[in-house]
Amino acid sequence: MARRVALYAGSFDPLTNGHLDILSRARRLADSVVMAILENDAKEEPLFTVEERIEMIREIVGDDPAIPIRSFSGLLVDFAREVEATLIVRGLRAVSDYEYELQMALMNRRLAPGVETVFLMAKEEYSYVSSRLVKEVARLKGDVTGLVPNSVRLRLQKRF
Ligand code: ADP
Repeated sequence: MARRVALYAGSFDPLTNGHLDILSRARRLADSVVMAILENDAKEEPLFTVEERIEMIREIVGDDPAIPIRSFSGLLVDFAREVEATLIVRGLRAVSDYEYELQMALMNRRLAPGVETVFLMAKEEYSYVSSRLVKEVARLKGDVTGLVPNSVRLRLQKRF
């Protein structure tokens, strides 16, 4: 049987427990889950470099051959083809995520009909956690314990 590869892409700036929750759910759907950091992110200036973000993910997931960690630029569907992924995994938090995600999923389907987008919901306790909010709280010296892995929390402390 063909190995099922899923692609879980994002900015992961930084990795949160919400991301890890989605990752563990995606692991149940696929033989391997490629964690991919978007290099040409149109969002705001990143806090951590792509290399730092890869390091942070590696510190947590280790060198698991079932979870390759990559970075990419360009179209998500092109990268999906490159890694032979047939699933694109996205996390859904609130309804506010839905509209943008729907547009992306339909556009990606048009560009690559063979790749299916699947949406997963993280645990309720992470449903409000975003990298952006975590950075904001950490910048203002708030406690982000429990929202991000400890190693990420320490890096945030150092950065601010
Ligand atoms: P963020 O929006 O936190 O900056 P990313 O751009 O790195 O995150 O997001 C990558 C993917 O992970 C997206 O599909 C996003 O919806 C999902 N995601 C991020 N945080 C969570 C969470 N707390 N619960 C569910 N999905 C999440």
